[in-house]
Amino acid sequence: MQFGANQKLKFNAQIGSYSIVTEREHYDSQITATDSEAELLINFFGRESIPIGNVKSNKLQALKEFKLYPDGEKVKLNLVFPKPDKTAELRLYISSKASFKPKGNSVWFMFERDNALWIGSMAETEWRDENVIIVYDETEGAYQDSLLERDEIKINKLKARDIFSRDRNLALERIQIEKYQCEYNPSHSLFKSRYTHLPYLEAHHLIPMALQKVTPQKLDTLENIFSLCPYCHRAIHHADKDLTRDIIERLVHKRPEILNIMDIKAAEIFSFYSVEDIY
Ligand SMILES: [Zn+2]
Ligand SMILES: [Zn+2]
Repeated sequence: MQFGANQKLKFNAQIGSYSIVTEREHYDSQITATDSEAELLINFFGRESIPIGNVKSNKLQALKEFKLYPDGEKVKLNLVFPKPDKTAELRLYISSKASFKPKGNSVWFMFERDNALWIGSMAETEWRDENVIIVYDETEGAYQDSLLERDEIKINKLKARDIFSRDRNLALERIQIEKYQCEYNPSHSLFKSRYTHLPYLEAHHLIPMALQKVTPQKLDTLENIFSLCPYCHRAIHHADKDLTRDIIERLVHKRPEILNIMDIKAAEIFSFYSVEDIY
């Protein structure tokens, strides 16, 4: 699978790819690289420089240099086209001796940074933890609180520097448009704010504001802000895969135009929350 915006941000990479290592691949000490992985390898090393067939008859040519994530130590691994027609499939040999032998069912990945091809692996849970977009920062609570402010009530814990520079007025506008209801399910019950005497709702940016660093398109927009009850807001950030996906799907279905902001598919939004299928 190709890196999404969140992985590019996390690894500071222009391009990258990741997938699951099968038990079989681990056992056989060889990984089959297809699709975006094959493309990455071919583009980086050059189709001509990658030999066809087995390693033995092309010892020097088959050996390719990678940088091992995270420390950047140089590792050399054998890479060949198993088929003579050099079709999109490549075979990468993994070995403990060469310092790269990912476990079965772990995630292995490659990415390009500073003209080097990095390679690495980690357990799937670790991968998901590492790749979830930083959604809360120290100003998150203050941002939500700021939505409760009125002229006569200054809660104003919002620091001068909201690192995501979100405009509270946009959030308020969204909540008003939604008639003070939860966008996941308008029947969700809400308590009233003691400050506004209106139903309490939170504002959530479905495409996380943290991605503003990697996209020129504005993410603090009316379309991207969703009015959620506190239960759903916590759930989209912290619930298990099925519920988080269900919330994302329903919100995207409600405002599909948000996919145009970064020209992405709903599945890529799953990866921002680390609930995507990895294959
Ligand atoms: Zn949120
Ligand atoms: Zn709700």
